Amino acid sequence: MLEARKITVNYDEREAIGGVSLTATPKDVVAIIGPNGAGKSTLLRALNGSVALSAGEVLLDERSIKSYSRRAVARRIAVVAQEAELRFPVTVMEFVLGGRFAWSNAWGWETERDIEIVQKTLRETELDGFADRLMNELSGGERQRAVLARALATEAKFLLLDEPTANLDLAHQAMMLRLVRGRCDRADTAAVVVTHDVNLAAEFATRVMLLKDGHTIAVGLPEEVLTVDLLKKVFDLQVLVDAHPVSGAPRITPVHTQG
Ligand code: ADP
Ligand code: MG
Repeated sequence: MLEARKITVNYDEREAIGGVSLTATPKDVVAIIGPNGAGKSTLLRALNGSVALSAGEVLLDERSIKSYSRRAVARRIAVVAQEAELRFPVTVMEFVLGGRFAWSNAWGWETERDIEIVQKTLRETELDGFADRLMNELSGGERQRAVLARALATEAKFLLLDEPTANLDLAHQAMMLRLVRGRCDRADTAAVVVTHDVNLAAEFATRVMLLKDGHTIAVGLPEEVLTVDLLKKVFDLQVLVDAHPVSGAPRITPVHTQG
């Protein structure tokens, strides 16, 4: 289990999140939704132990995340950051193989099992034809899928994804979340996903957290949280909520009034 207990994070004097609690247990897909600057990325960084807390604690399998080495954390938690940084020209194969790094032996060579896992994740993310292509010569969407593939290749039990669907076309947005959801269901994995797509969250999340100005507005099932009143409170926007005709999940439609 990955758990944030009443955590507060300050950047210099300013509070980015205050007193936020969240748990992610196996098979959970938790969507974090909120306006720009709400503290969503900061919350993910805190869950990964990569930002200092000024209050509260983060527990990984019941132990303070601070008691783990970075390598031990990397075996358990995979992160898909908002912007992937690519300093060297690497192929998709090499990049995804990088996801096995936390498991590498003293010599740093990949094993046959590593290669197998990478090939499987490339197939899963529909990138099998891309193995030899250079990462910096891919489209934004292809690169994003490779970034997910690298995270899946870690076989970490916790996936933290920051706006993983931002550059994707309609079909690949759904594919991305279906993959994450499938992995969580099958492999006892939990994911925390920051997304601006409330409708995708409604379809694929088991729980939703609404965050505003660094504070939790609500946490619960999609149908409990994605309501007219709560979305008005968080986004100051009028929406309609009905049921998706096929899935039955909440369907959110913004109402744009002129004037
Ligand atoms: P979100 O991901 O919801 O857009 P962030 O977690 O990135 O929000 O940011 C929350 C707040 O913290 C914002 O006010 C942002 O300006 C501030 N912030 C984020 N990262 C830093 C940083 N490295 N240094 C100082 N302030 C930061
Ligand atoms: Mg962010």
